[in-house]
Amino acid sequence: MNLDPPYLQYLKSLRQAFPQPVSDRVHDAYFVFSFLRALDHLDSMKSASPVLGQPARLDYTAAREARIASEPLLLEEVSNRLVEHLSGLFIWGHPRAQINVVPHPTIASIIGGLLPSIYNPNLVSEESSRRVGIAEVEVSAMVASLLGYDAAKAAGLFTFGGTATLLYGAKLGLERASPGTSLTGITEPAVVICSERAHYACHTVANWLGLGRDQVVTVPATVDNEIRIDEFTRILKREIVAGRKIAAIVATMGTTDHFGVDDLHAMRQVRDSLVKEFALPYTPWLHADAVIGWAWSVFSDYPMQTNPLGFRPRTVRALAGVTRRMQALSEADSIGIDFHKTGFTPYVSSLFLVHDAAELQTLTRAQDETPYLFHDGHYHPGKYTLETSRSGSGAMAALANLLLFGKEGFRSLLGHLVTMAELLREQLEGHSATTVVNRGNFGPVTLFRVYPDGIDTFSFPIREQTEAGLVDDLRRHNEYNRRIYGLVQQDALRGEGVVISLTDCYRETTYGEPIVALKSYILSPFCEEQYIEAVLESIWKARGVLAEEFG
Ligand SMILES: *Cc1c(COP(=O)(O)O)cnc(C)c1O
Repeated sequence: MNLDPPYLQYLKSLRQAFPQPVSDRVHDAYFVFSFLRALDHLDSMKSASPVLGQPARLDYTAAREARIASEPLLLEEVSNRLVEHLSGLFIWGHPRAQINVVPHPTIASIIGGLLPSIYNPNLVSEESSRRVGIAEVEVSAMVASLLGYDAAKAAGLFTFGGTATLLYGAKLGLERASPGTSLTGITEPAVVICSERAHYACHTVANWLGLGRDQVVTVPATVDNEIRIDEFTRILKREIVAGRKIAAIVATMGTTDHFGVDDLHAMRQVRDSLVKEFALPYTPWLHADAVIGWAWSVFSDYPMQTNPLGFRPRTVRALAGVTRRMQALSEADSIGIDFHKTGFTPYVSSLFLVHDAAELQTLTRAQDETPYLFHDGHYHPGKYTLETSRSGSGAMAALANLLLFGKEGFRSLLGHLVTMAELLREQLEGHSATTVVNRGNFGPVTLFRVYPDGIDTFSFPIREQTEAGLVDDLRRHNEYNRRIYGLVQQDALRGEGVVISLTDCYRETTYGEPIVALKSYILSPFCEEQYIEAVLESIWKARGVLAEEFG
């Protein structure tokens, strides 16, 4: 007979649900096996279609009726319930998936993310993070030097997303423009200047920093989705002349939807010359939002001429075009890097890098607090980070992939993705019914429009984007592309085609109408030429279906 009081009975059984603090091989087996069963269960949900299980209707009404139960559940049952929550998810790494900039995490990075989940280091200080804190310093040094920073002077910290890397950049920039703001609060307006193609995170940051979203000044972009340097010059000058403070200038190094890369070098030159011309008492902060493009830095010392990895000429040209721009990264005051985008780790793994660790001093919580990094040889990031508790998972996952790939591995992976994207572009450009709309951008993403028979795609796409009289045609073709998308999607979910995506407003026409485009984002290392063919076949099939209706 069990004489324990009831609470002890619960406690004893719950103890089995924790990893054992003292080595217990039998219990380790239980732990691992529990995880294995979840993996097994997930594996049985895989198929030729790039979706786990079935995409069921999402029932938020039922979800809102959820309440905590009175009795505990067995670990096995909890695990089953959790696995069910993954059903319907896209398998981003599936060869039939070309959806978005969401990577398929490597096994190494999953282990990197998992280990801290078990032993719970906290990056707030070295007491609580030990060598996991060292991992953060190692990754920062590796990436800083890869991007051309002086690794001995630079510093890095992992934070809650690419948005937060921008937040850090703008925060440091605001303090530089309006010294004392962290103490007194904002006393004068300050603007954030970025391209109209920059991520909406710029607005988020302006909002949360208290600058206000209206203080984001967007600069027109070229047809290649890069900031226009002439307009940037004019606008920066205008803001300076108007006496407004510049909290930050953001260079977008790889736009989310089109892989446009700003000319950071030119932006820096413009900034420096205007600082001189107007004898500004401060140098406006230049932040590189490289959350997507940073990874291309692995090519900065790749011999494009001899091309030892044997990429196709078209691939080499594409890589060289992007790499040339990335070589300017070291001219930025700070850089945002997402491993969970082009670094193949799980969410969240975002690194904020600053060119000089001393800049972090303005973030310390109290004026008399010890400054920045490695004070007394110790590491206390909690003194200047926005977060208090910080997970070690992001840093460990990033370290895992840097070790796993090395430069050559990274180059081969990215080179393959670009090769696949270039194959797709080649085909889309060669066909009379399709047109690539981000022509000048050389990354893994292709935006394109499909047209019905009888449309001359050499001239019409330009005309409908610039002649207001053709608005009805433009709208009809927007609808046409939406329908093509729906049909291609159906094919893909049957395991025949490829899942791509649709963007409702790739950009606006010169007369202010949204232009819809189809989007192929190739990020799966398992993509092969046959899946490029599959995208095209699926599009031709969809055109056939719509032929009657659209002519
Ligand atoms: C995704 C993205 C962001 C935001 O990053 P999160 O990690 O999603 O917070 C910022 N800038 C660009 C260019 C992005 O693509």
